[in-house]
Amino acid sequence: MGHYKHILLAADFTDHGSEVADKAKELAIANQAELSIVHIVDNLPITDATYGPIIPFDGDLSQQIMDAAKKRLSKIAEKLGIVEAKQWLEVGSPKLEIVRIAEENDVDLIVVGSHGRHGFALLLGSTANGVLHHAQCDVLAVRIKND
Ligand code: AMP
Repeated sequence: MGHYKHILLAADFTDHGSEVADKAKELAIANQAELSIVHIVDNLPITDATYGPIIPFDGDLSQQIMDAAKKRLSKIAEKLGIVEAKQWLEVGSPKLEIVRIAEENDVDLIVVGSHGRHGFALLLGSTANGVLHHAQCDVLAVRIKND
């Protein structure tokens, strides 16, 4: 197996994220690879069960969400020694954006957790599954046990 040169960690800010992050860091050291990190703010509309219609994000709320996400991303990145230029914060569909960032930055390994927010009902979480289907490069799904 050749050495990986650029590893991308997909961080979803769940409690299990540090297991996935540690594995990505370990691999980056072992391969002497660059390590980047990406978080996607899911663009699913917010719906309200009582009132039915979609409540669109207002500008301030979106900005607050992005600011909070940026802070969390920077904190994780700092722990892993990832400089700001290698931190990606995007809005959209997590699986598609993770793959896009990987392709645009010559990533040769994407590291995801087997499961995240979307639960344990699936064999592989929906994002991990989607990344696996769409990515051109290798994908490592770090096994997260259901506890
Ligand atoms: P899930 O599909 O929610 O079960 O998540 C599986 C894995 O996909 C997580 O452990 C993360 O590595 C990655 N992931 C899920 N959602 C995001 C997100 N919004 N941004 C970045 N990575 C994500």
